[in-house]
Amino acid sequence: MAITHALAALPQEIAALVSASPHPELLLSVDFSIAAASEVYLELLDAPAQAVVGKDIREVFGGSPGLTGLAASLETVVRLGTKHWMGQGAFLLPGRREGGGELIFDVVNAPVLSPDGSVVWIIHTVRELGQLEAVRETARLANEAALQAAEARLRSVLQTVPDAMIIIDERGRIESLSATAERLFGYTMAEAAGKNIKLFMPEPHRGQHDEYLKRYLTTGEKRIIGIGRIVVGQRKDGTSFPMHLTIGELRSANRHYFTGFIRDLTDQQMTQDRLKELQSEVTHMSRFTALGEMASTLAHEINQPLTAINNYLKGCHRLLERIEGEQVPALRDALSRAADQALRAGQIIRRLREFVSRGDSERRVENLPKLIEDASTLAMVGTRENAITVSFRLDPRAEQVLVDRIQIQQVLVNLIRNAVEILSESPGRRELEIETLLESDGTIQVGVSDSGTGLAPEVRAHLFQPFVTTKQKGMGLGLSICRTIVEAHGGKIWADPRPRGGTIFRFTLRVPEESEEAALGQQ
Ligand code: ADP
Repeated sequence: MAITHALAALPQEIAALVSASPHPELLLSVDFSIAAASEVYLELLDAPAQAVVGKDIREVFGGSPGLTGLAASLETVVRLGTKHWMGQGAFLLPGRREGGGELIFDVVNAPVLSPDGSVVWIIHTVRELGQLEAVRETARLANEAALQAAEARLRSVLQTVPDAMIIIDERGRIESLSATAERLFGYTMAEAAGKNIKLFMPEPHRGQHDEYLKRYLTTGEKRIIGIGRIVVGQRKDGTSFPMHLTIGELRSANRHYFTGFIRDLTDQQMTQDRLKELQSEVTHMSRFTALGEMASTLAHEINQPLTAINNYLKGCHRLLERIEGEQVPALRDALSRAADQALRAGQIIRRLREFVSRGDSERRVENLPKLIEDASTLAMVGTRENAITVSFRLDPRAEQVLVDRIQIQQVLVNLIRNAVEILSESPGRRELEIETLLESDGTIQVGVSDSGTGLAPEVRAHLFQPFVTTKQKGMGLGLSICRTIVEAHGGKIWADPRPRGGTIFRFTLRVPEESEEAALGQQ
């Protein structure tokens, strides 16, 4: 800066000083017209003095991106009477030099004060930072270097974080894996890099993940981002395991990443807690249905003797009518009271049966794939040591069902648990498959099949009846509860041998009709 304070200087002297300055400088009046320009400044602009001197600076730089900032800076100088650093701005050359275009200037404006402290002139100085393209290139290189450094830092973080962590890009391609994630899924970073994250998921997510991502990126609809949840993961060897997944979002410059933090739930204490939590509602239901099942069996079993008692009592009553004696009326009275009590016992049992079978059943339109996912996660927890391969074959047309979610989940959990139990005792490959299929009659068939040893001959005929079991600690109620629930939903349940060995349990569910869906939607 050549001059900051020129208290006594006359206008001509100041103008002469600025014109002769070895720095790029302009002398501006307080209304921003240019009183003088240094040679260097004119060279920078590649404009003759007459194109600049005498003009308003806002006119000289008309249309420049940096003009607003410049005007604001000059106004600040006039208002406050202090030097102001405007910073960088892009300015169009007034002479429109061939191939030139914009120049980046770093601008400082400083006041020349009169003895009473008021601003009389402004000295405007610039430092040339180069042409815009060059500046952008420098910025790009700097950004790239920063990005590379950040990536290097990230890589070192990924090597050391104790969590399993995966970073994917906006198209679901794996960018990085932490060392723990490599161990957990059985893939090395080199194998996984650039592959779609679907690799780590069993069906049905495998087929749906691209859609989830696309929907999120176009609509912003969050299904899982920011919310942790339990899902099933798939290792390289094809085995599945329950895991807790939390997804975060990372936006850098012009790219969009998602980070997934994964906790393996297989062996953790947490699994047990979470399992209890998840199970409590299903178990509650299970006890309730078990009770219902017992009540209805009891009712059935006790009704017969009760009817017999009633008949015998009626017979006795008739016999008594033919007998004379002092004690007879009292005997008759006692008999009819006994008959009343037998009747009452029958009623109590009937009422109990009605009460329990009515239950708290709450039917809603539910998403079947989601329901299956939750049930299988729940049923699969703690099954790692059995190395079971779980696969899903879900019919995309079988999405919505009208069911009591908890009850149908219970059916699935029972069937899957039975399959897991039989598989853990089976030699050879342990495969469990869950499939859905929309039938031509509009019902949905759900199948749970296992590659186990098949049904024991002694249970085959009475499979769905209560108290039929081959297990030492079994109650033999699971399948009969399944039957009760499925039939209460208007469906059927049955078991077939699986062609390649093992058993397939299937049950049917109804698809909600449009009117039901609409009615439920309004609730
Ligand atoms: P529990 O499991 O208490 O025995 P269930 O009603 O669930 O009661 O099962 C009854 C019986 O059916 C079992 O004891 C078992 O013998 C047989 N069973 C059930 N599922 C399967 C299966 N997937 N493979 C072979 N046998 C099965």
